[in-house]
Amino acid sequence: MTSGTNNNKLEFIEKELQEREKNNNLRQLNSIEPQDAVTIVKNGKTLINFSSNDYLGLSKHPQIIAASHDYLNRYGTGSTASRLVAGTYDIHEKLEEKIAKLCGKEAALLCNTGFQANTTIIPTLVDNKSLVLCDRLVHNSILQGILLSKARWKRYKHNDLSHLEILLKKSVSQGYNRILIVTETVFSMEGDRSDVDALIQLSQQYNTLLYLDDAHALGIMGKEGMGLTAYKSGIDISLGTFGKAMGSFGAFITTSKVMRNYLINCCPGFIYTTALPPAVIGSINAGFDIIPNLDKEREYLLQQVDYLQNKLRKLGYQVICSSSPIIPVIIGNKKKALQLSRFLENNGILATTIRPPTVPKNTDRIRLVLSSQHQPEHIDYLINLMKQYYEF
Ligand SMILES: *Cc1c(COP(=O)(O)O)cnc(C)c1O
Repeated sequence: MTSGTNNNKLEFIEKELQEREKNNNLRQLNSIEPQDAVTIVKNGKTLINFSSNDYLGLSKHPQIIAASHDYLNRYGTGSTASRLVAGTYDIHEKLEEKIAKLCGKEAALLCNTGFQANTTIIPTLVDNKSLVLCDRLVHNSILQGILLSKARWKRYKHNDLSHLEILLKKSVSQGYNRILIVTETVFSMEGDRSDVDALIQLSQQYNTLLYLDDAHALGIMGKEGMGLTAYKSGIDISLGTFGKAMGSFGAFITTSKVMRNYLINCCPGFIYTTALPPAVIGSINAGFDIIPNLDKEREYLLQQVDYLQNKLRKLGYQVICSSSPIIPVIIGNKKKALQLSRFLENNGILATTIRPPTVPKNTDRIRLVLSSQHQPEHIDYLINLMKQYYEF
């Protein structure tokens, strides 16, 4: 055999990429340079950023940056080992205690990312004798976790808890060792919320485990911005991430002490990975000092969400009814969605498209995301462009 240039073993890759190109589905990385909390430079052009999840602009907060520097200087660049080996510093444990207290829970556990947490914790909770019931629109990381668990799984219609209850009723007598309900509190691509109290009630009534992904609520919702699951009992695990409103990186769960111990012992994605680095812990620690004091910013942010949604609807756009800074404008077709995104970019606004399979077919959208750092002029400028585009 000669090692020819016709590398057939990679044919599937070429095919996949060509297919994606043909269907306007080819994903590409576009690098940008951040300027401040709401502006970036792309290809030499300054753009107002309406696509980041930095809801409070904390990624550029001077006090958070200083705290990150401080931990970096004191503890070094890396945590040098996994948590169980030699990677648990006092700053990791103190942060976990602080988070548990702020969220009104017994315990907290740091995880390296939200994606990793969902893919590794779910398979630690359920197995091939279990059933998982999840919302039809849950984040891909939750789906991956379910698939890895080898559990049977069914999806209920988006936010339709009566459908969930029908599935629960059918399933309780079917001999599963456990049933897990898993969903998001704020849906990452829809911006709407689930009814946390009703989920807790169903979980208790049918004696299931309950896992709630609070990634998009932390920082901007709930008491002192601690999310929609804070201070609520009856949730076995709630997940928060630091990459969104916290403006940093990583994730955590709040849970019971016994569940924390179980995961420390049995969860591979916790055991076999290097602990979060000191600079990241420093930024998160400072973020938790700042976030409870940002009620005004949260109020302003949600006012602007209402304002922008209403204006866009009046212009004739199909906007999903959002109760979060995520405002999806449904365009329905890839070409048109890309066209609108390009029009906005040519005029100084970054607003990226979200396409299937990230969202259901024919719901290609521009996912606008607001930050408390967007000034009214920024938002009016966006509305004005959307108007021009619609009329054109
Ligand atoms: C962003 C997101 C994640 C992943 O979190 P990372 O820390 O970015 O890996 C998980 N779940 C939901 C709902 C998310 O939106």
